[in-house]
Amino acid sequence: MIFRRLAEQLDELGRRGLIRRRIARQSAQGPRILVDGREYLAFCSNDYLGLANHPRIVHAAIDAARRHGVGTGASHLVTGHSVIHERLEETLAAFLGMPRALLFSTGYQANIGAITALAGAEDAVFSDALNHASLIDGVRLSRAQVVRYPHADLKFLDKALADSRARARLVVTDGVFSMDGDIAPLPQLLELCEHHDAWLLVDDAHGFGVVGPDGRGSPAHFGLRSPRIVYVGTLGKAAGVVGAFLAGAPEVVETVLQRARTYIYTTAGPALLAAAVEASLKLFLEEGWRRDRLRRLTAALKQGLSGAEVRLAPSDTPIQPLIIGGNAEAVRLSGELRERGILVPAIRPPTVPEGTARLRISLSAAHSEEDVSGLARALREVLASGAAVHA
Ligand SMILES: *Cc1c(COP(=O)(O)O)cnc(C)c1O
Repeated sequence: MIFRRLAEQLDELGRRGLIRRRIARQSAQGPRILVDGREYLAFCSNDYLGLANHPRIVHAAIDAARRHGVGTGASHLVTGHSVIHERLEETLAAFLGMPRALLFSTGYQANIGAITALAGAEDAVFSDALNHASLIDGVRLSRAQVVRYPHADLKFLDKALADSRARARLVVTDGVFSMDGDIAPLPQLLELCEHHDAWLLVDDAHGFGVVGPDGRGSPAHFGLRSPRIVYVGTLGKAAGVVGAFLAGAPEVVETVLQRARTYIYTTAGPALLAAAVEASLKLFLEEGWRRDRLRRLTAALKQGLSGAEVRLAPSDTPIQPLIIGGNAEAVRLSGELRERGILVPAIRPPTVPEGTARLRISLSAAHSEEDVSGLARALREVLASGAAVHA
């Protein structure tokens, strides 16, 4: 019976067009990837700066592995923490101009750890409706009262904060929204947090390395600095490695270190990854052309699709979603692009709201102008063929 129950649930997912399939990549991450022996032009990764396979980063990892081995053998609070981790935390804090940073193994763990450490049952968390799943799960685990505010709705949030009688208030938001590419209105959010004495947690998984001077992230993009900002950056996207960190006021970082179960009860990430990130941060500073190129490619894609029937969502970041609506239609378009040798993922609920299935195009500094014009051409073709079918 328990087996049949699962089979029925899976069948139901299939009927709703929600079955997810993995592809097994046969090459390194990059603008061209090998799948089932065929080379595809890919617009799927979050490797925005094209660093995932950079020789200097690879070399830094190998060099650290020779000195420190691979496994850390313990959590950070026992003996897993190394001088390489310690130095990276200092480098990250200095890069952001924030007092202190704390490494986590993944962004998922960082968000859950930060929220549960900063908010408990007597507190309230105010969460943007389009926030990432890891923030939502962190809020649930915290047992705090939750107010889910409509996407970027400052009026709603202002009133909710004013009405709150909670002991402490925490506003949480993506910096750059992962499925839409828009940037949160951080100056206004910070103003509300100051007015209502709340923390502002910014999950900048898609902003760190991409927006702001030298890729210092979405608060820096607006020139914001405040001890109220609790910044979470992830290291598996623009930084091209894996991992995450939290940065903020000393008392915030120390509280998270002392209380976050996703920090305390897990093995420290390999030092070789921290060394890799250190190399990646140097490239943020030395190779500003990567961000310039991303901006040019983003403009080129918009230009290439202007006048097409389906429009890109308003976004100035390398996340350029084409909102399709129906799940089956989004999957069909993604499949047709794949037949043409181009990979663009169809993103469906529950990752995005019902009825807003989309092709999530993500650009990388490793793409060429020709890659982007090829994508625009193919998109126009598959969109036109769909229109003909529906006519
Ligand atoms: C990817 C992502 C995370 C999770 O980070 P990982 O390091 O991949 O676990 C958190 N928040 C947002 C907005 C993300 O896009």
